[in-house]
Amino acid sequence: MVEGSRSEFDLIGRFFADLGPPRADVLLGVGDDCALLEVPAGLSLAVSIDTLVAGIHFLHDCDAEALGHKSLAVGLSDLAAMGAAPAWATLALTLPERDDDWLAAFACGFGDLAQTYGVRLVGGDTTRGSLSVTVQVHGLVRTGTAVRRDGARPGDIVWVSGTLGDAGLALRLMREGGPVDPALRARLERPDPRVALGSALRGIATAMIDLSDGLAGDLGHILAASGLGAEVDLTALPLSPAVASRIVSEGDWALPLSSGDDYELCFCVPSEHSALIASMATGLGCALTAVGRIRAEPGLILRGPNGTPTRLSSAGYDHFSNNT
Ligand code: ADP
Ligand code: MG
Repeated sequence: MVEGSRSEFDLIGRFFADLGPPRADVLLGVGDDCALLEVPAGLSLAVSIDTLVAGIHFLHDCDAEALGHKSLAVGLSDLAAMGAAPAWATLALTLPERDDDWLAAFACGFGDLAQTYGVRLVGGDTTRGSLSVTVQVHGLVRTGTAVRRDGARPGDIVWVSGTLGDAGLALRLMREGGPVDPALRARLERPDPRVALGSALRGIATAMIDLSDGLAGDLGHILAASGLGAEVDLTALPLSPAVASRIVSEGDWALPLSSGDDYELCFCVPSEHSALIASMATGLGCALTAVGRIRAEPGLILRGPNGTPTRLSSAGYDHFSNNT
């Protein structure tokens, strides 16, 4: 921390020294110059870092407990998308001032999710400045089994978990200043990373990504990495009633295709495993929906209700507009 004051260490000790369950593979956690962590032989370390900046990634008046939850959830979603098991996290927190009520709520949101997924907070940094939160997550995955973006094959079915566009709709409604259904708001502020699903798909999915920027762009990353294309049936997209009615009233598919923060998984699976995916959905209690198919020809084709290719108005999709 910049000040290096006694109160800095008091703050860390009070709020961040004991978040998440103790783990035998943490040889040394918060308090020294480095954490010491043990990666067992045969496992690879999966690492991802994300920064959430006030006013850009979350609203200034965002609930501190929800922010604590989300700042860890987005990283766990990245681990889920590789099929990695969450293990450790580090946290770099920049705060305009010390506010113990805010810190307690933030630590509570972070700590509860850390507990749920067995993640130990092992270190971090605390500085003064405009509010921003950076979390690095570390997961473990048997070497050679992580699900990457570049493994899709022509004919694979494209699946998505949950429903798409809810977080984007919640954000839009909050910006409009109207009432927002609490369940819809939770989809934006308290995403539930699909860790069990990601892990179950190791050895089955050929490619996977988590949906942080909308299906069109994120599936586009799989297609680019795999050197392939895809056809998506818009009428098959899993939508909540609220998002479905908004699409009808606006005549625009931007919410499910190019709004962010869903943190669902999009994955490709050879068609002979479709029954297995359906049973996985039942077992995990998580909706899994086939929305399209991988093609050898590059480009993403979106087919609307009448089967004809559909264009998307939003900038998030411009990248692919030549192919529709
Ligand atoms: P250094 O100056 O040696 O980098 P710091 O003073 O930044 O150490 O931090 C002291 C200890 O507290 C370190 O172990 C660091 O990892 C930990 N730490 C600092 N800030 C946080 C935080 N926000 N969450 C968790 N651990 C933290
Ligand atoms: Mg430091």
